[in-house]
Amino acid sequence: MGLDEDALDYHRTEPPGKLEISTTKPTNTQRDLSLAYSPGVAAPCMEIHEDETEAYSYTAKGNLVGVVSNGSAVLGLGDIGAQAGKPVMEGKGVLFKRFADIDVFDIELDEADPNRFADAVKMMEPTFGGINLEDIKAPECFTIEERLREEMDIPVFHDDQHGTAIISGAALVNAADVAGKDLADLEIVFSGAGASALATARFYVSLGARPENILMLDSSGIITEERARQGDVNEYKREFARDVPGGDLADAMRGADVFVGLSVGGIVSKEMIRSMAEDPIVFAMANPDPEIGYEEAKAAREDTVIMATGRSDYPNQVNNVLGFPFIFRGALDVRASEINEAMKVAAARALADLARRDVPDAVVKAYGDQPIQYGPDYIIPKPVDPRVLFEVAPAVAEAAIESGAARADLEADEYEERLEA
Ligand code: NAP
Ligand code: MG
Repeated sequence: MGLDEDALDYHRTEPPGKLEISTTKPTNTQRDLSLAYSPGVAAPCMEIHEDETEAYSYTAKGNLVGVVSNGSAVLGLGDIGAQAGKPVMEGKGVLFKRFADIDVFDIELDEADPNRFADAVKMMEPTFGGINLEDIKAPECFTIEERLREEMDIPVFHDDQHGTAIISGAALVNAADVAGKDLADLEIVFSGAGASALATARFYVSLGARPENILMLDSSGIITEERARQGDVNEYKREFARDVPGGDLADAMRGADVFVGLSVGGIVSKEMIRSMAEDPIVFAMANPDPEIGYEEAKAAREDTVIMATGRSDYPNQVNNVLGFPFIFRGALDVRASEINEAMKVAAARALADLARRDVPDAVVKAYGDQPIQYGPDYIIPKPVDPRVLFEVAPAVAEAAIESGAARADLEADEYEERLEA
């Protein structure tokens, strides 16, 4: 239990927490202060009053993301409440800063009702360049995000849904390539029909999977049209209801090319892995214990099992930190009004492409000097790979420009220099 004690020490060492505000302009003289605040500050106020987009020029808005949660689905801890979730939201701020130099205000709202929650977030639009919704339970998270995407003019992105979708989507593109299969032909089984599974299934369709090839299960088994007719599934699960006989996970996995686990640990057996199609793809992402362990899944068959999990101690970790810092970086840098499907697909494809290239020595060293090469055990980049910023952020920015979500232009070369700075 050394980790728990260390984590408590880490957080309570003075000053408590792990973030602070710092100033970016001189504040030494009386003159400096009268520029920063009254009376000088009136001038930028009036510029913005005339043209609101000037907020990006005269305030920190364009580099500021709100990480907003009600603490209703925190990590694997469940509904621990807004206050108890604060260390996680501050931690998200640390990752935004460390990986993409984005500043974060963490906002913990003590509000379970999705509409009242959305009202509160919407009122904060002037403050932020983007909103990262975090650790809000399903199905409320869908209602909240849908409303805010509609009503706000800045990116709103629920990372627990789309981060997982994008990173594992990159892994899927490469896993299919390694297995020599076409995305459109993959028979895909989802265990789980919550926040991450529903968003991930939809995103795989954006990447080229066929909706009719996707079978989804929740804690009551396969989501069938029969169950949908009986009103046994919510409106979001209904999208994946299929006209098949009811059944359990073992039934669903027989002959499948891909298993995607976003449910609970330990529910997949070796027999189920053996029943899958040739060179199966197994993304067992329940945390902290995957649906089936890496070694167990690999040992179940003679052919190649292409395996990903949420864990750092095995190959192919689906880690959201590969996505959100760089997706927001690209979105903020073109003053995007949203993070749309084209931008998400661009992020996934950039990650997939990067994994196919040679890995720099520094990254190899950071991972214990084991050779890292594109193949079954390396289908997504490593989280510490410094190249991810330079691949994903420009890809997202470019997709924003092409799809009409950008409100500022970028020169590719200049942008690279800016990212390096
Ligand atoms: P969630 O919204 O609570 O959804 C969980 C889903 O799992 C629900 O649909 C639930 O069914 C289903 N489920 C529970 N027991 C099941 C069983 N025995 N068989 C099949 N389905 C079952 O949670 P979430 O946020 O989507 O996260 C789900 C899991 O994925 C968690 O373990 C989380 O840590 C993990 N995750 C990992 C990553 C990553 O690796 N990067 C990212 C996101 C999530 P009902 O709908 O019937 O309750
Ligand atoms: Mg989260």
